[in-house]
Parts: sequence; structure tokens; C-alpha cells
Amino acid sequence: MIGFSVFWNFHNSEEQIMKLAYTEAQANLNKDISFRRWGTLHGGVYVPVTETQKSIPWLSHVPGRDVRTTDGKQLTLLNPASMLRQMMDLYAADYGVRGRITGLRQLNPGNAPDAWEREQLERFTRGEATEVWAVTQIEGKPHLRYLRAMFMDPGCDKCHGILGYKTGDMRGATGLNLPLTPYLEQVASSRVGLGLTHLVIWLLGLAGIAWGNWLGANWAKASDRAQVALENHRDQLESEIVERTAALSRSMHAAEAANHAKSSFLANMSHEIRTPLNAITGVLHLIRREGLLPGQAEHLDKIDTAGRHLLDLINGVLDLSKIEAGKLELASLPLSIPVIVGNLVSMQHERAAAKQLKLETEIDPAIPEHLIGDGVRLQQALLNYVSNALKFTDSGRVLLRVRLIEAGSDDVLLRFEVEDTGIGITAEGMATLFSEFEQVDNSSTRRHGGTGLGLAITRKIAQLMGGDAGASSEPGHGSCFWFTARFWIDHAAKTLPPVLEAGETVRRLAAISPGKRVLLVEDDALNREIALSMLDDVGLAADIACNGRQAVEAIGNQRYDLILMDMQMPVMDGLAATREIRAMPQFDSVPIIAMTANAFDDDRQRCRDAGMNDFVAKPVEPDLLFAALLRCLPS
Ligand code: ADP
Repeated sequence: MIGFSVFWNFHNSEEQIMKLAYTEAQANLNKDISFRRWGTLHGGVYVPVTETQKSIPWLSHVPGRDVRTTDGKQLTLLNPASMLRQMMDLYAADYGVRGRITGLRQLNPGNAPDAWEREQLERFTRGEATEVWAVTQIEGKPHLRYLRAMFMDPGCDKCHGILGYKTGDMRGATGLNLPLTPYLEQVASSRVGLGLTHLVIWLLGLAGIAWGNWLGANWAKASDRAQVALENHRDQLESEIVERTAALSRSMHAAEAANHAKSSFLANMSHEIRTPLNAITGVLHLIRREGLLPGQAEHLDKIDTAGRHLLDLINGVLDLSKIEAGKLELASLPLSIPVIVGNLVSMQHERAAAKQLKLETEIDPAIPEHLIGDGVRLQQALLNYVSNALKFTDSGRVLLRVRLIEAGSDDVLLRFEVEDTGIGITAEGMATLFSEFEQVDNSSTRRHGGTGLGLAITRKIAQLMGGDAGASSEPGHGSCFWFTARFWIDHAAKTLPPVLEAGETVRRLAAISPGKRVLLVEDDALNREIALSMLDDVGLAADIACNGRQAVEAIGNQRYDLILMDMQMPVMDGLAATREIRAMPQFDSVPIIAMTANAFDDDRQRCRDAGMNDFVAKPVEPDLLFAALLRCLPS
């Protein structure tokens, strides 16, 4: 761009300056021509004859060339061309601009054209131009040459007619040679200025580019540094993440291992405790069946109480640990508050009667009849309150009240209260109530048994059901324990199947059992004996298999209506045996009931996955076993 600008500006400045030279040349020539025309207007002028101004020889043909004035002065005629020529000589001497008069035919030989002038005159004659310009060297110096054609005026005839010209003819030319040196000097100096200006611009441009590059490089370096810093930071973060993830996964694995160890410890412990408990309660059942010596009944009751207490304890520990581990999942099944309250009363009324306590209930009639929720857990929570109330009350009454607190279009919030007239709780005792393993009377001399888990479990169940639990009490006058819980309203409710009385279950079972055959799969001899006696109670005949393998073999020889299957057995366990049986097409629908001391939800799920239909936990409650048999046996 700078190069182009220099070129264009140089060219332009020369043109501008040359235009000035042309203008000056034209102005000079215009003046000359006007001066000559003035002379022509007057037909020339008379001037005194002197040493330097003699009569003009080539005007000898003009009459009156020389005249004498009346006072005797000698005058001679000066034609316009001579006048102008003299003036041009003066002007050239004074100002250096040389005027020219020339023609192809001339009177004055001094007007003879040079080679360039002759060429131009011939072009004028041919009518190719009326004026011409040229830059040429004259005496080694540059000159602008300018020549303009001159045409014959009527006033010209007097002198020039002799040469044969007529008015209107091209008779010659007037011109001038303008020295160009000052103009060229000006061109040169303006070029120097332009050059310098462009040089400065170029340098500034270069400096700008260099500065820009430097800035760019710096910026690039800075951004490189920032990039590097960023990458370092990212790498560091990534490595920190990797480290932390590893640490986290280590601690997660450790926690998982610990949790797994805890779960399997709990499962094993519960299995180990349940198995002897099953024996204890089972033997009680057998002994009671066979009749007792006087006094033995009381001892058996004590064993029974101890066994049930142990069972409560493991159930409590299991429930709490399940709740803590977030593994307690609530069922969503149809339930009815009056049915649950009725069950509870039928379970507890004997205990109340034994202490001569009234067990009363009060159910808000506004509570929808058909609800959805976990009825088993609700009953467990209520049972905790009611059995505590009965335990800590010696006289008066225990009242179970259910009230509707909130009624939405789809759900309800209920409040369950158990009010007693018992010993009450001190303010101090209230503070630790609902904490695990806490009992108000922690002394070694306390009157009442218990695990200290019931309230903690109740509160957690209430919270799982979207409510809470609490109590108020007046020592010596009684307590009121409450909890709230949310239930869905069962809009598409069907009437619930009636809850059968234990006796009714046995009667119905006995009615369908004739001709039915059960296979009992159990490795423990004592447990086999207990189960067989329970089956016998409802008139069911049974064969025995001592492990899963024997069971699979047995069903090949005999048709069974139902299989009672232990889970843990030598040779082949209950799950594997069930899977084998289910794999045989002819046995894919025979009902299989798991009967096991593994009482976790996971265990139930594994049984279901293997293809079992129902589940009874050990120690086996006869009523629960009978209910399961009634559910599964083809009627
Ligand atoms: P447990 O009854 O097995 O000891 P709970 O968690 O059910 O365990 O109860 C914790 C303690 O709260 C009881 O030991 C008792 O001191 C107190 N308590 C519970 N219910 C009542 C009640 N209705 N009246 C007086 N004290 C009660």
C-alpha cells in the first residue's frame, strides 16, 4: 500500500506541477499574442530611427515605411512581429522565458523554425493540431516548449501579404520555451517530502506491526501460560478426584464389607437363636399335647414366656437394624382400621382380663373404611403401645383411640393414642423415651421386663408412614402415647376377606385335609417331630425328606399336594431343591411353603425367586403355619 501510495503521489505531484508550468506558459503566450494584436490593430507603430533601430529591411515593400515628422525627426515603421520579437528578447533577458515567432515562410530569417518547430508547423498546416506541448532539452536544460498556430487576420496583409498568405491561412506560430528547472526542482522537493512522509508512515506501520506481533506473542504466551496453568489445575483436580474416588470406594467397600458382615452376623445370629427357640416352643407344644402332671403347666408357662421374650428381642433387633439400614420397606396393601383394632383387642384382651383392666377402643367414624398401607407394621406399632400400657398399669383402664386429623382427597392422616391409668413417667424418664434400649427404670431391681426397643421401633414406623410419635404423662396417674401415620384412601376397595379366628382356620383345614399328602423337608429331627405333630393336629399326613436331594427323589415316587421346605440343609438346600422341582414340568405348580429360621425380607425374596409360594418363619407359630397351609392347599 505504501509503495502504491508513493507511486501514485509521485505521479500526481509531477502532474500537478507540470500543470502549473503549462498554465504559466499559456499565460505568457496569451499576453504576447494580445500585445502583437494590439500592434496589428494599428498596422504597426512608428519608432525613431536610432543606432540600434534601423529601418526594417524586409518591410521595404511597405509604402511609408520611413517618414519624417514636421519637426524633422526620422521615424520608421515597426511591424507587430518585430515589436513582439524585441519585447521577447527583453523578456528572455530579464526572466529567462524565451518567446518564439516562427513560420514556414518568413520575412525575418531569424524566425526560421528549428527541426521540432518545423515538424509542428507542418502538422498545423495539415490541420492536425492548433497547439502543441513538449518537454525537451535546450542547451542541455529541460524546457517546456509550447507552440500555438497563428492565422491570417485582415491587419496582417500589409506586411505578410507579400508571402502569399490570405486572411484565414495558417501563417506561422507563436510560442515559448519555458525553463522547467524550477518546476522539476519543485517536483523533486515534493517527492522528497512525500518520500519522507511515506517513510515515516512505513516505519510507523512496521513499528505497529512489530508491536502488534509483540502483543500477540505476549498474549499467546500469557494464554499458553494460562492454558498450562489450567491444564495443571485440571490434572491436579483429576488426580484429586481419582484419589478421593479411590479413597471413597475403599471406604465404601469397607463400609459395604462391614455392613455385609453386620447383616450376615444378624442373619446368622437370628438363625442360631431361632433354631433352639423353635425347639423350645415346639417341645412345649408337644408336651402340652401329651398332657401334664399337676404343677408342670406353670413351669411350661414360664418357659413359654421366656421363649416369647427372646423372640421379641430378636425381632426387635432385626426390625431396628433393618430400619437403620433403610431396608425396611412398607407394604401398600388394603387395610381397615376397625379390623386391625379388633385383632389387637382379641390378642390382648386375655392379658387385660388377667390384670382386671378394661381394654377400650374409640374409633373416629369419619375415618374411611378402606385404606391402603402396611397393616402389619401398623399393628406392630399399636401392639407396642397397648402391651406397654397393660404392662405398666395395675388398675383402671387402657383406651385405644384412633382419630382423623387430616382428610385429603387421596390420603388421610390418622392419630393413634393409647391412654392408660398406670404408673406414669417422670419428667426425667420422658427425656430418654423413644431412644433405643432405654427404659425408665434401668435399675437391676426393676419389676417389669422388656427390651427397651418397642418405642424406638414405633416412632420409626410412624416416621416411615409420614407421621411422628410422642407421649405425655403424669407420674402416678397414667400416660398417653400417640403416633400419627398417613394412609392412602382405597377408592377401588373391595371388601377385605374376613380375618379368620384361629379355631376356624383349623376347622377349615381339617375339612380339606383328608386324602391330602404333604412332603416335609427338614434336616433337624426335633424340628421334624414338631412340624409333624402340627400337621397331625389338622389331619394332614406327611412323608419326610431329610435334605433337598431326598425331596427331589421322593416326588419322583409319590404325588404330593404340598411341600414344606426348610432353607438351610446339608447335601442340597431348600432353594436348590425348589429350583430343581420347578424345572420338572409336572411339578411346576405344586405349592411349596418355606419354613425357615432365616427371617429376613431378603430370605423371603430368595425363596420367592426360587419358586416358593409362601413363607413361615421359625419358631413356627401353629396359627401362622395353618393359615399358610389353608392359603396354599388346593381346596
Ligand atoms: P420395653 O417396654 O420393652 O422396655 P419400650 O421401648 O416399649 O421397651 O419402652 C421403653 C420404656 O418406656 C419402658 O421400659 C418404660 O419404662 C417406659 N414406658 C413405655 N410405655 C409406658 C407406659 N404406658 N407407662 C409407663 N412407662 C412406659
